[in-house]
Amino acid sequence: MGELELIAGIERLLRRRSDRVMRSLGEDAAVVRARPVAVTSLDTVVERVHFERATHSPRDIGHKALATSLSDLAAMGADPGEAYIGLGIPEDVSEDDALEIMSGAEALAEGADTTIAGGDVVGSPTLFVTATVVGWAESEEALVTRDGAQPGDLVGVSGELGGAGAGLLLLRGLEAELPERDHEALLARHRRPAPRLRLGRGLAGAGAAAMIDLSDGIASDAAHLADRSGVGLEIDADLLPIASGVAAAAAAAQRNPLELAAASGDDYELLFTIEPERREAAARAGRDAGVQITFIGRVIEGECLSLVSRGRPLAIRGYTHLEPA
Ligand SMILES: [Mg+2]
Repeated sequence: MGELELIAGIERLLRRRSDRVMRSLGEDAAVVRARPVAVTSLDTVVERVHFERATHSPRDIGHKALATSLSDLAAMGADPGEAYIGLGIPEDVSEDDALEIMSGAEALAEGADTTIAGGDVVGSPTLFVTATVVGWAESEEALVTRDGAQPGDLVGVSGELGGAGAGLLLLRGLEAELPERDHEALLARHRRPAPRLRLGRGLAGAGAAAMIDLSDGIASDAAHLADRSGVGLEIDADLLPIASGVAAAAAAAQRNPLELAAASGDDYELLFTIEPERREAAARAGRDAGVQITFIGRVIEGECLSLVSRGRPLAIRGYTHLEPA
């Protein structure tokens, strides 16, 4: 595979989506007209750690790498801006497949108002994709951080949970009695997570006090938010919005569906806290973004995360990342 040829191919498939990007591909570095506050995040996905070539198409891999980074911008309530993609390509990955990885990222970038403005391609013993994203805001106050939760706030979550975890079990060969539609939706949920950019901005505008994206599952991520805010979170696991098909997949895997919803990763929904008076504003942000909002608990004094089902603590087995088989 010719590296220069591949880079030329990548440049042909990328589009500039903003006047802010003054210079990008073909230069030594991208030149971007800045807004007052830059919001930057980097994520890397690695073969056999975050995906398998047997179960993820090249497009899935490119999508996933960029989606996980963009989800961090969503969790801050930032406007998306530019992305910079690093590809580590082993010898047995063809140039076409490398281009397909970039096509997957570019397709997501298009829907997310993001310009892929640069990157790097290197030979590597393991396939990996790194995505650095830069988002923008007019001021620090326009963003939502993890440390703003106050006792008395409500805890809300977007969308549905457990789908990516159930999808992973199915990808690994779990046989479950599922309608075809649910089966496909769960696989897609794992392979092509949707960063909640529009919702994140809407929740920031609605006055969310603290926010985090669910990359590892509520059991881990809500604890991060509680730690950073110096508060406790009391979550009623029976209120968790569980994706269709998760119950059947959990039954086939002899797991508790609540555990799958709370402790499996990769759903990339948003968890936030907000003052009770702003509850309707948060619900409206959800409607505007076409994503359901569910209130699942409240912020309390103290520093703990309590996940309760029918008045009893929920037993959690720890979050699931894709591990080498
Ligand atoms: Mg995150």
